[in-house]
Amino acid sequence: MRMNIIPLPAFRDNYIWLIHDERHAVVVDPGDASPVLDYLSAHDLTLSAIMVTHHHADHIGGLAALLQTYPVPVYGPASEHIAGVSNPLSDGDSVSLPGLGLTFSVLDVAAHTAGHIAYHAPGVLFCGDTLFSAGCGRLFEGTPEQLEKALSRLAALDGDTRVYCTHEYTLSNLAFARVADPDNPERDRYAAHCETLRAHGRPTLPSTIALEKDINPFLRTNTPSVLKAIAHHTGKTPESALECLRELRAWKDVF
Ligand code: ZN
Ligand code: FE
Repeated sequence: MRMNIIPLPAFRDNYIWLIHDERHAVVVDPGDASPVLDYLSAHDLTLSAIMVTHHHADHIGGLAALLQTYPVPVYGPASEHIAGVSNPLSDGDSVSLPGLGLTFSVLDVAAHTAGHIAYHAPGVLFCGDTLFSAGCGRLFEGTPEQLEKALSRLAALDGDTRVYCTHEYTLSNLAFARVADPDNPERDRYAAHCETLRAHGRPTLPSTIALEKDINPFLRTNTPSVLKAIAHHTGKTPESALECLRELRAWKDVF
């Protein structure tokens, strides 16, 4: 059986990820129903489940319309109130997608929002707005302590795990990374690669955990390059990885 994961562009820079085989499809974070419905009918696929990572409208806005056509199970975080979620999930729960032969385990990665979850299967991570390529989600509801915990959990996954995030923010994240992590030739090579992809209208995603550890400043808070840049920006060398992460996130918020 063949399993594919493809991005359906939505809004300005969202991707709704669609997992499918020859007949069944599952979508992650459908902020809008129409690109999903269009793809399903064009490819003769049946929706069999929906997974959402957090309550923001650009991730759940399509639920009601999808459920009208496909009354399928909707998986989502137990600690956020999301209309339409039928299967509330907490850390350590698992999600079996029988049609697709896939089982995800649920990770609590609260930080961007208070109940944000991620879905992990061997080699595959759907992390919503927690980790982006070369960046991370804003702290709307969580704390830097929670962000540190969430990012270190994701960083501990196998290096070859493909990272499916919800936004195409890579180039703007890389512009910040050039300043916040200046001495990183690996990142420069990646930036050139991503410029080419975007120039051809192609997604930069998925990334991988191993790649992010090399190029994402938010996963490199212990490196001299990042520490030096923070010290230059704030006038003070961070005394811990947590302090470095807090300063980095605050700096990115106003960059
Ligand atoms: Zn969000
Ligand atoms: Fe979002």
